[in-house]
Amino acid sequence: MNNYEAVIGLEVHTHLKTSSKAFCSCSTEFASPPNTNICPVCTGQPGVLPVLNGRAVELIARSAFALGCRINKKSIFARKHYFYPDLPKNFQISQYELPVAEDGFLEIKSDEKAPPKKIRIKRIHLEEDTGKLLHAVGSRELDHTLVDYNRAGIPLMEIVTEPDIASPEEAWLYLNALKSVLEYCEVSDCNMEEGKFRCDANVSIRPVGQTALGVKTELKNMNTTKGVRDALGYEIKRQTEVLSSGGLIFQETRLWDTAAQETRLMRAKEEANDYRYFPEPDLPPLELSEEFLTMVAKQVAELPSAKRGRFVSEYGLSDYDAGILTAQKTLADYFEAAARALADKKPETYKLLANWVINELLGRFNARDVIPKGGNFSQYDDLIQSASLAEIVNLISSNAISGKAAKIVFEEIAGGSRGKTVADIVKEKNLVQITDEGAIKKYCQDAITENPVAVGEYRSGKERALGALVGAAMKKSSGRANPSAVNAILKDLLK
Ligand code: ADP
Ligand code: MG
Ligand code: ZN
Repeated sequence: MNNYEAVIGLEVHTHLKTSSKAFCSCSTEFASPPNTNICPVCTGQPGVLPVLNGRAVELIARSAFALGCRINKKSIFARKHYFYPDLPKNFQISQYELPVAEDGFLEIKSDEKAPPKKIRIKRIHLEEDTGKLLHAVGSRELDHTLVDYNRAGIPLMEIVTEPDIASPEEAWLYLNALKSVLEYCEVSDCNMEEGKFRCDANVSIRPVGQTALGVKTELKNMNTTKGVRDALGYEIKRQTEVLSSGGLIFQETRLWDTAAQETRLMRAKEEANDYRYFPEPDLPPLELSEEFLTMVAKQVAELPSAKRGRFVSEYGLSDYDAGILTAQKTLADYFEAAARALADKKPETYKLLANWVINELLGRFNARDVIPKGGNFSQYDDLIQSASLAEIVNLISSNAISGKAAKIVFEEIAGGSRGKTVADIVKEKNLVQITDEGAIKKYCQDAITENPVAVGEYRSGKERALGALVGAAMKKSSGRANPSAVNAILKDLLK
């Protein structure tokens, strides 16, 4: 039996963040009442002419810069023809032979030790979305189909990779990295649940060592990045079983069924010439001036991988923690706002802050995965203001409160004590740590007197017995004594 390896290429369609559609001035507002954001242009009435949305061009060019692409100063719109009720013109305005941008790349990194892997981007082009067919209303199946053209004509950016992806895991990493870049550049919300970020996955397998590509299938209908990973995992297994038992893979489009966790045949794959592509006669070639490109290039802010590197060098964080904190720009901004409010700018303090953000803050958003889900700056700030979190960390690092007391303060604020400041809560709950040596000595002496067995054990060489004495002294201070001071003083007294 042969050993097979997987070959994957992804096609991502993502909504651009424009307020009007690609070729008319209708609104792109999500979840408007059906067929309220429509006009003669986006419903394909006779005699109308498309007018290109300049903002969409700006956003796509910005994405192209961020993904290291070569931008074509001249690109061509094309008509892609097919009949389907969600497509009022019976063709989609897209780009075919000359797209806006080509030959870029995106790096993925699985963990701290793994060197980054370059996934080449073949092309980025601009096209328009279709309408939406409704076969059910809520959970009620209809005996007819409804069509909503609100989505028809919303600008879509298509980003196509070369077949450089070698596993479902890499596909998942690529999608998350891509979402992260597009969110950073503020070109798209990338919301998969709202269908604003969709992925078709092309996959084939081949015997290890063979250079020619195998026959691919195209998977559709996955609506989470995890769905893409699962669908690819299933499909690779299916193809391997077919080929291993002497069968053939046919080029076809298959649908992912989330409930059944399997892919199903949808249709045999059409060829490009079935679409009768030809240049769009109603739109001139898209020409981008040098000045325009210079202006757009300046809009590309620090990207996730650069920010991740800077978090390691500037704050002394581990690459892993920096990866979590920079996966989302809003979270990175939150961390930096808190970092600016720290009293001392030492790596230990930054590390402590990072721990609080990752464990406590993200923990609240159920987002401890490498890639935080959901959450935006105001959501984080609403839970606990960055300045308040910095204040908590300041109090811990100056030994004013213990880590345990800090959790109490955090819970109080995150639990909804809006009006109260960190200082109010520390005072109100009497959380100030006792560092006074005299007071701590008294707790320690009492602990020694009351625990002769532990004292005996410790003195006869059982180091572990000290723990019981530390516990007893801490209890006497109602948990407020500084634990390391307790430790040191006890050892001293027991000499
Ligand atoms: P199509 O004309 O079928 O859409 P494209 O050449 O446009 O095919 O490629 C679509 C996507 O499929 C790209 O991401 C590409 O990298 C990927 N791809 C092409 N051939 C294969 C293959 N044999 N196995 C896996 N992926 C492939
Ligand atoms: Mg294609
Ligand atoms: Zn319109």
